[in-house]
Amino acid sequence: MGGEVMGKSIIEIVGEIIAGQACQRTLSGEEIETLIKHTYRAFREIEELENRERALEEIDKSIGIQPSASDVHQSEAEKSPIEPKIDPRNAIQDQEIFCIECGRPFKVISHTHLRQAHGLSPAEYKEKWGIPAKQPLAAKNVTQRRRDQARERNVGEELRQYRIKARSKRSQQTPTDEKEASE
Ligand SMILES: [Zn+2]
Repeated sequence: MGGEVMGKSIIEIVGEIIAGQACQRTLSGEEIETLIKHTYRAFREIEELENRERALEEIDKSIGIQPSASDVHQSEAEKSPIEPKIDPRNAIQDQEIFCIECGRPFKVISHTHLRQAHGLSPAEYKEKWGIPAKQPLAAKNVTQRRRDQARERNVGEELRQYRIKARSKRSQQTPTDEKEASE
C-alpha cells in the first residue's frame, strides 16, 4: 500500500471517508469492510490513471512535446500498434470487409464504428489507408447486391418513363401510328 493521491495516502483518505460515513449512521462491520474495499479500489484506479498520465507526460517531455488536450488523445492512439491489423489490400473480401484499424469483420463498416472506435470519419479512414474516396466500405457481395438493386431500379424507372411517353404519344397519334408505337 502506501500510494499517495493528491498528497494524502490512500489509507488516510479511506479512513476519513469511513469516519464521515460512520458519523451519519451506524455501519455494520460488513458494511465498513465493503466500503473500505470499494473506496480503496476507486482510489487505486485514480492513482493508476494519474501514474499513467504522468508516464505519458514524461514521454512527451523526453521527445520535446508540450502536453495539451489533443496530445493526450494522440498518446491514446499510439498505444494501438501503428502497423495495420489487416493488409489494406486484403480488407475487402467477398463476404466481409475488415476494419483495417481493429481487424474486426463487418458486412458494412459504419461511420459510427469508425467514429466511436477510432475517432475517424469515413473520409479520414479512406485517406489514411489509401482507399479510393468512391470505394464503398462494404463486403464485395454487399456492394454487388447494391449495384444490382440500383440497376434494377434504373431499369424499372426507364421502363416507367418509356410507358409514360408511349402512352402520351399514343393519345396524340392517329390509329395507324399506334401499331408502330406498341411494338
Ligand atoms: Zn475498427
